[in-house]
Amino acid sequence: MPARILDGTKLANEIRAEVAGEILSLRASGLRPGLAVILVGNNPASEVYVRGKVKASEEVGLYSEQHSPAESSSTDELLALVDSLNRRDEIDGILVQLPLPAHVDSKKVLLAVDPAKDVDGFHPMNVGYLSTQRPGLVPCTPAGVMEILRRSNIPIAGQEAVVVGRSDIVGKPVAMLLLNQNATVTVCHSKTRDLAGVCRRADILVAAIGRPGMVTPDFVKPGATVIDVGINKVTDRAEFDRFFAGNPKRLESFLAKGSTLVGDVHPKAAEVAGAITPVPGGVGPLTIAMLMANTVKAAKMRRGTRELQIAG
Ligand code: NAP
Repeated sequence: MPARILDGTKLANEIRAEVAGEILSLRASGLRPGLAVILVGNNPASEVYVRGKVKASEEVGLYSEQHSPAESSSTDELLALVDSLNRRDEIDGILVQLPLPAHVDSKKVLLAVDPAKDVDGFHPMNVGYLSTQRPGLVPCTPAGVMEILRRSNIPIAGQEAVVVGRSDIVGKPVAMLLLNQNATVTVCHSKTRDLAGVCRRADILVAAIGRPGMVTPDFVKPGATVIDVGINKVTDRAEFDRFFAGNPKRLESFLAKGSTLVGDVHPKAAEVAGAITPVPGGVGPLTIAMLMANTVKAAKMRRGTRELQIAG
């Protein structure tokens, strides 16, 4: 039986509608949460991401502003910008779009963001809150993964979860969130022995690797839930055929655009999994929705409603 498709676009729309409702009632009581996005230089991919974030902010009713310092900006100049945003009360969330130019000390800039406004959840203070199950800001993509599981009624407590990837941005926080919800968690990486065998133990398999279609059907326990975080662009026809042979709809779009997106999970894994997120339209849309949710959460926490929030 083919897997249930976990429709991230639909879930993200649900979350955005809920966030918009919450912003409406906050605005009625005189508070409009605000998000500041910093985009340094002219990285085309970053420009697309930032445009999406600013547009989503406007759609849900957040106040938003974009700062676009030149590529040549120094670390000190960026620190001064972050400092000025930290001080402004109407700014609740600060997002520094990565990657920063090579000459900039990215860690120093990220560390300068007030943890209470760190809507990306990357600050060591928020990492610490997450690992000690205290209220804090959780990174958006991992938070999105958990929303997909929760809203799709996938049980977590007591389940075997395997996370492939241990980045600070995705793999580690996803593993911590699953652990906080009582899954038995294994984290895999490039040095893991018998990766396919370890993955086959998973009731919940999360792939955050950055390698197109690496998780093939033999990695998947029949009936498992598979969450594909990977976003990889395929432009080569032979590679396209390796993933999507016999899919005329994909082929039509590939030929028209010259590219398509594939996750870290091979599309054929859907024949073994019980439930699976598609790419595109799976985890991706949740990331921006959770950024919106995090900005509202930050606004409320900064104003003393911290105790109302539950970590993760
Ligand atoms: P990353 O920082 O490059 O981390 C990749 C992880 O995968 C590393 O821990 C690495 O292991 C592991 N890995 C690499 N090759 C492996 C192999 N052959 N076997 C086992 N493990 C292997 O990537 P990331 O930032 O976490 O992103 C992962 C993917 O998610 C990418 O495709 C990215 O585009 C996508 N992504 C999507 C969203 C979204 O909104 N949907 C957001 C962020 C990222 P080592 O630690 O041993 O090197």
